Amino acid sequence: MKKRNTIFLLGVFSIIILITAQVIIIRGVWKQKDEMFNLRYKLLSQDALAVMERQWSTDGFDTVRILLNVKSELLLKNLAELKEDSLTADEKQAILEYVTYVLNTQEDLSKFLSRWFERRGFDKDFKSKIIINRFELINFDQKIPVYLNEEFANRQQPQRTDTLRTDRQMGSGPPRLRTGQLRRSSEILVKIYGAEDNFYRLDFVYYIDFSDKQKIVLRETAASLSLSIISILLVVTLFLITYKNLMEEKRMSNLKTDFINNMTHELKTPLSTITVAGKTLELPFIRSNDTKILETAKLIGKQSVHLNQLINMILEISMWERTQFQLDKKKVKIEEFINNVVESFKSGGGNGATIIQNYSFKDIEVELDTVYFTTLINNLLSNAVKYSDKDPVIEIEGLTENNSVSVKVGDNGIGISKNDQKHVFDKFYRASTGNIHKYKGLGLGLYYVKKIAEAHGGDVTVSSKPGKGSIFTVTIPY
Ligand code: ADP
Repeated sequence: MKKRNTIFLLGVFSIIILITAQVIIIRGVWKQKDEMFNLRYKLLSQDALAVMERQWSTDGFDTVRILLNVKSELLLKNLAELKEDSLTADEKQAILEYVTYVLNTQEDLSKFLSRWFERRGFDKDFKSKIIINRFELINFDQKIPVYLNEEFANRQQPQRTDTLRTDRQMGSGPPRLRTGQLRRSSEILVKIYGAEDNFYRLDFVYYIDFSDKQKIVLRETAASLSLSIISILLVVTLFLITYKNLMEEKRMSNLKTDFINNMTHELKTPLSTITVAGKTLELPFIRSNDTKILETAKLIGKQSVHLNQLINMILEISMWERTQFQLDKKKVKIEEFINNVVESFKSGGGNGATIIQNYSFKDIEVELDTVYFTTLINNLLSNAVKYSDKDPVIEIEGLTENNSVSVKVGDNGIGISKNDQKHVFDKFYRASTGNIHKYKGLGLGLYYVKKIAEAHGGDVTVSSKPGKGSIFTVTIPY
């Protein structure tokens, strides 16, 4: 038991290690593919920008610049005083909203990039994202600040950064923006813009973001991912099969040990009776008594037959293992046949069991090997008597349907637990509940029954309630 647990734990542990290793590898591959994806689009965007500038002398923000210049000039004209704090917070907010709107609607870079990617056979479904870092109105050398991104400001004056930053900003502010550095892993930085025009200064960063990037990266990692999953599944299945086989072998070996113990026990009883009988015959006063000699000889004969039966059963079963059943079938009227078997069971003792014969097969004829089938019925009847703790009452019922006949042997015995019901037809299996030594046996009777039923193209099933009794149903086609 301890060894079994160790093997199981070792197996589970190795599988966990394997899965962890695979997860690490896959994460590595994923990260690499992800970085390659970003790099690919970054380089493509750089090319696109270079071509735009070279061939069309534009960066895609010309309209934006014109509109902002006109707007800024107008704003400056309308200002009563040209002072740093001459704009209210609301006015600043409105200006920022306008700048954002113009930037997002009037830029031509996104369209150009989209076409550029498409023509080169790459994914073109990205969203552009513009982060404004600074906007100022300028009137000659006078600057009127409208908006300043704090992060950006801190980066501009690194010497003051530490004293100016609050704790919150240090902990949760967006990461620093440097060329080539990404804000979020899905955002690819394309352009950092910072320039002064006649009436304003604008700083912003332009990103592109692919919504189905995960899907693309997943597609690219699919091969390694599926290989990993397959290898894990294979190892787990292999482990489970091996473990199951190991357990099955262990169970078989336990059953065999039990069988050898039971067999020794079974063989010993008739043998010791024969030995005692032999010794008795040596006694002078027995030798002079003819009736005693006859009685002892009969006893020896009976025990030898029993011994012989036991040995034959074992030999026969080991022969079945090697060769198939050789049935000698002939057509018999099933009703007559069962009647005969029951009669001879009764006359052979039947251990005082009450047998109720509740069947009517009329003239149905079934092809049977009468010798084997007699053993089958006898085994069920003797079990019904053997596994009983009160006066045994056996009810035999019959059923015909769909070209098959069923014979049910029911008893009022000790019954069989749900778990044991699954195994009672296994070779050497003996139910472990109750006092096993109270009922002698080798665990072969029902195995025999099942083999014989199957050899006739049929089957046997059991239904039982512990303490109430059991019903064995043998079904064979006709
Ligand atoms: P054996 O009787 O030699 O042990 P069997 O193969 O005939 O072997 O039966 C297997 C086990 O099934 C028995 O050990 C017993 O526990 C259980 N069993 C079989 N028949 C009955 C029955 N009619 N009632 C209760 N238990 C039974």
